[in-house]
Amino acid sequence: MEVITKEDLIRMVKSYNETEVDWIKKAYDYANDLHFGQTRQSGEPYITHPLSVAYILAEMHADRDTLCAALLHDTLEDTKTSKEEISELFNKEIANLVNGVTKISKMNFSSKQEQNMANTRKIITSLTSDVRIIIIKLADRLHNMRTLQFKSEFKQKENALETMEIFVPLAYYIGAYRLKSELEDLSLQYLKPDIYQHLEEKKKRIEEDSQATLVEMLTNIKSILEDHSIPNEIKVRTKNIYGIYKRLQEGHQLSNIHDLLALKIMVQKELDCYKSLGFIHKLYHPINDKFKDYICNPKTNMYQSLHTTVFGAGERLVQTQIRTFNMDKIASFGLTAYWDINRGKAREKMQEDLAQKYQFFQSLLEINHVFFDNQAFVEQVKAELFTDKVYVYTPKGEVVELPKGSTPIDFAYEIDSELGNTMVSALVNDRQVDVGYELQNKDRVRILTDPLSFGPRESWLTKVKTTKAKQKLLQMKQALK
Ligand code: MN
Repeated sequence: MEVITKEDLIRMVKSYNETEVDWIKKAYDYANDLHFGQTRQSGEPYITHPLSVAYILAEMHADRDTLCAALLHDTLEDTKTSKEEISELFNKEIANLVNGVTKISKMNFSSKQEQNMANTRKIITSLTSDVRIIIIKLADRLHNMRTLQFKSEFKQKENALETMEIFVPLAYYIGAYRLKSELEDLSLQYLKPDIYQHLEEKKKRIEEDSQATLVEMLTNIKSILEDHSIPNEIKVRTKNIYGIYKRLQEGHQLSNIHDLLALKIMVQKELDCYKSLGFIHKLYHPINDKFKDYICNPKTNMYQSLHTTVFGAGERLVQTQIRTFNMDKIASFGLTAYWDINRGKAREKMQEDLAQKYQFFQSLLEINHVFFDNQAFVEQVKAELFTDKVYVYTPKGEVVELPKGSTPIDFAYEIDSELGNTMVSALVNDRQVDVGYELQNKDRVRILTDPLSFGPRESWLTKVKTTKAKQKLLQMKQALK
């Protein structure tokens, strides 16, 4: 593992933010003084940790306050400074971020059960006040996972498990795929070392074997796009080891994972995505049911792209992903891409879009509001949000994300509580189904209502998964008493 120096950080920050490096230098020097004499388990000076965390964030082009807070993130916990002092020396925003990260640090999985649940709750709900707290925490966790070899085997497994259970879903929900992939692979490496190594070797071999095919396709696609004056950049993207592991767990054969290797085609304009799709389909036959339009139907974490799997060169199935450069930024970095795309206004825009566009956010608020008990809160989040999901369509074609096992009742309340209260039955893919029907991916759901309906039945309570539906049903029941 390469060691990051203060100069590396400064250079990285300068590459996208010339004017505020002095703040970063000041935060570094201050943190360095405070942590003086402290060491990590690796024997390195403690400052290497906050420095690396800040560097991970600088790679994502984080704003000034986030970087300063990253450098200071362990000072409240481990040194003699205070929130007030940080506020005076820097600003209130930075003090709040450091305080937020501190409040959710020092988790302990096995002992102090209640304290741990309270901590987990804090991690998850800190999204609602300032998502940058979670982003700093994710970078903190990433660096700790990268340096996990210095911990005991017990600690390694404990951290890896916690990463999979809490941090990976959070990274997914804010769309930070790059962070998510690395966290997943690092976790698998400690949880199942043998499997990890085995898959790593296999993947390497497949990559080598496919090299020629992919280069041939890349060249052909590039030249047809250039012939039609579509500026582009094409890259080979490989699935992470954990992604492969998961597919195998689902019963797929390694040779049948058609998106193990993909070509990522980036263009400037949205319309160029569709033009490129046409040219690619002219070159290589597509498999009809493997086409996905995530541009018009974005994923619920705002991922946008066209996916099409084609019969590529050498009779190999190859997935191609077509998107604009901006979509690609969101695809790799999620909300954190706002630092680049919405310069200056990123912080406000992040929080605003999180509340309005990212579907899980409302569910999280609902669960937080309803469950007073920390353990119940954590269990519900795990069961409702950090779990497998189904994606279904409204009659207008909007995508709704629900926990697996959800029914048309959950769907109705997710859309609107009046819809749930007046619901009498449901049509799924134009066929009448029981209200307790378990929704499947890609179902089209239409709720049939009757204003004279005598309201939801009590028995519906056993047929719902989401907090929103449960809550509304309980309220109705109370009102009728
Ligand atoms: Mn830390």
